Amino acid sequence: MPERRVIILGSTGSIGTQTLDVIARLNQSSPRFRVVGLASGSNAPLLLEQAARFDVPTIALASGGSSPPPGALTGPDAALRLVQRVDCDLVVASMVGAAGLPATLAAIELGRDVALANKETLVAAGGLVIPAAIRSGSRLLPIDSEHAGVWQCLASAWGLSAPPFTAPAGVSRVTLTASGGPFRAWDKASIHAATPEMALRHPTWSMGRKVTIDCASLMNKALELIEAHWLFGVNADRLHAVIHPQSLVHAMVEYADGSTLVQLSPADMRCPIQLAITWPDRAAGPVRPLDPAALSGLQFEAIDTDRFPAISLAHRVIRAGGTSGAVLNAANEEAVQQFLEVPGMPFGRITQVVQEALDTVPQGPLHSLDDFSRADAAARALVRARLGTRARPTATAL
Ligand code: MG
Repeated sequence: MPERRVIILGSTGSIGTQTLDVIARLNQSSPRFRVVGLASGSNAPLLLEQAARFDVPTIALASGGSSPPPGALTGPDAALRLVQRVDCDLVVASMVGAAGLPATLAAIELGRDVALANKETLVAAGGLVIPAAIRSGSRLLPIDSEHAGVWQCLASAWGLSAPPFTAPAGVSRVTLTASGGPFRAWDKASIHAATPEMALRHPTWSMGRKVTIDCASLMNKALELIEAHWLFGVNADRLHAVIHPQSLVHAMVEYADGSTLVQLSPADMRCPIQLAITWPDRAAGPVRPLDPAALSGLQFEAIDTDRFPAISLAHRVIRAGGTSGAVLNAANEEAVQQFLEVPGMPFGRITQVVQEALDTVPQGPLHSLDDFSRADAAARALVRARLGTRARPTATAL
C-alpha cells in the first residue's frame, strides 16, 4: 500500500488523538501514513506537540488567543483553508459539531477520501453531502462503531466498496446498538431531573462531553440513525436501534432470506478508526480482539421511546428530509451546551426543546450551505429563547 497523506481536522479532540495513536502504531512496521495537516479548535499546546511529533508541515487553529503559533493558519475558517491548500489522500473529519461542516464538505468536493467522525456533517447536511460525494467520487469512511459495523455486515451485499451506498431490496433491516447510557434503567421523571454530573458518567465508552451527553439522552443514537440513512441508503422503515448494554455488538444487518449478520469488536474507538483509514486492508493495531470463549451474557432490549423520545425524532427527520436534520442537530447542540453551562437546567429539557424546534422552526428543501445556515440559526435562536439564554457570537465546538 503506498504511503497515504492525511489531514486530521479536530486533531486535539478524543477521536483526533486516538487517530494519531493508530497511525503511530501502524507506521511502526512500515510507513503507511504521512500526516500533512492538523487542525484544532483552540488547544495550541497540544497541536504544536502533535505537529512536532509527526513532523507536520501545516497546522490550523480556529481560535489561537492573543499569540497564535507562528506559521499556523488561524481564524474560524482555518480548517477549511487547510483542506483547500494542502494536497492529501485522506481527511479525517473529527471536529465536533456543525462547525466542522464547511471543511468536511470542501474535502468531499475535492474528491478526498473522508474518514467521517463528525456526525453533524450527515445529520445536518446529508442532502448536500451525499450528492457531492457521488459527484466527486469521495468515499465516506465512517468512524463510528455502529456504522463501521453496518458497513462490514453489508460486505455481502456490496463487496469491498465504501459508502455512500443505496441499499438493495435484499437488505430488510439495519439495526444499530445503543449501550443505553447511564439512564437505561431510570424512570422518566428521574431522567428528566438528571444533572450534568449524572449524564457524564457513561458506563462503557470513554468519549468527549458532547457525545457523552448525547448518549445519555439516546440523541447520539438518533443522530446515528440519520447518518445510517444517508451512508447506506436505508429508509426509516428499515432502520432500527436496540439497547445492548455490553457495547460489544455494534450493528446487525438482516437480509430478506432470514439471515442476520452481526459485527462484534471491543468498545474501543481505535477499532473503527483503524478500519476507516486502512479499509479494505486489515492490519494488527493497538486493539486486542475479543476472546470468543469470554463472550457471555450479551443482552438486548427494545428501546422505550417514551423515556427516550430522541429515537422517534430521528425517524421523523429521516422521513421529512430537507432542513429538518439541520434543525434537530442545531437545537440539540445548543441545548446540550446550555445544559452543561447553565446550572439547574433539567436533563429532560434537552430532548423536549429539540422537539419544540422541529415543531416550530420553518423547514424546507436543502440546496445550499445557506439553506443549512438559515435553519441552523433559526433553531439555535428558538432554543435560546425557550431556555431563556442569550446568544453567543458563533457556534463553537464543545
Ligand atoms: Mg457510535
